[in-house]
Amino acid sequence: MSIISNAAGDRPISLTAPSGIDRAAHHRLDEAWLAAAWSHPKTRVFVVSGGQVLIDDTPDGRTELVMTPAFEAPVTETHRYFLGTDEEGVSYFALQKDALPGRMDQSARPAGLREAGLLLSPRDAGLMVHAVALENWQRMHRFCSRCGERTVIAAAGHVRRCPACGAEHYPRTDPAVIMLVTDEEDRALLGRQVHWPEGRFSTLAGFVEPGESIEQAVVREVFEEAGVTIGEVEYVASQPWPFPSSLMLGFVARATSSEIDVDGEEIHEARWFSREDLAAAFAAGEVLPPYGISIASRLIELWYGKPLPKPGEIPAA
Ligand SMILES: [Zn+2]
Repeated sequence: MSIISNAAGDRPISLTAPSGIDRAAHHRLDEAWLAAAWSHPKTRVFVVSGGQVLIDDTPDGRTELVMTPAFEAPVTETHRYFLGTDEEGVSYFALQKDALPGRMDQSARPAGLREAGLLLSPRDAGLMVHAVALENWQRMHRFCSRCGERTVIAAAGHVRRCPACGAEHYPRTDPAVIMLVTDEEDRALLGRQVHWPEGRFSTLAGFVEPGESIEQAVVREVFEEAGVTIGEVEYVASQPWPFPSSLMLGFVARATSSEIDVDGEEIHEARWFSREDLAAAFAAGEVLPPYGISIASRLIELWYGKPLPKPGEIPAA
């Protein structure tokens, strides 16, 4: 039987839903195909800069990525990422620029993934998260880790090649585990990180270390951060988290001890909450829930059994 039996509605996890985009990786090395796709009138292009894109509201109340045909896009030869094609054969590219383009229509606005991820369709959110992840990697991996030479972009943004030693470098993804821990009384263990404001509680999380399975990482991180031992571990879902390059692997885990001993370095405070405790703490304004695109809020909701209060619904303590 699952540790979590309480499904909190059908709301999908942000950035996890199928985007409907075929990444079409076989085209990335085909310069002739890429040139033809770029100049096709149906092709759509958007600019990514510092993790931000332009988004705009439509008359029917949706929010979209601002995309243009390629001939209207600001020219850049090197930082052009091919992101894939949709069912209608439309190709999508992102351009990495030092700044977002100015807009004549004033409703368009810059947005990062934490805001846009809540507003965009799965297609647009999927395109954006792909572009932001590539941009973060490109910005931080300009030199060859084997010989130190400056590398050049290849494969439509998905490889960096070293002209000196011939090494090929691929975008890196750092696995991290994030887990909702429950005890025998079905209370949830939530912690407050040292740099979080008073009252902000969420699930525990941490990076997977070299030579470690993700299940081992769950057990180790919970013990390191809160001193609680773990038995059963169950995978729930994953979420791309390019801040700058993580993949969050979400778990529920069953504690085999209940005494808390926080490390004081990453976690300042941790507490066991029953659902009633948490509801009362929300109502009193003593606890602020994680809110937004993070899988943390969904893991807590799966246990809590209903959506967490939004920021405006929490009284000031
Ligand atoms: Zn090299």
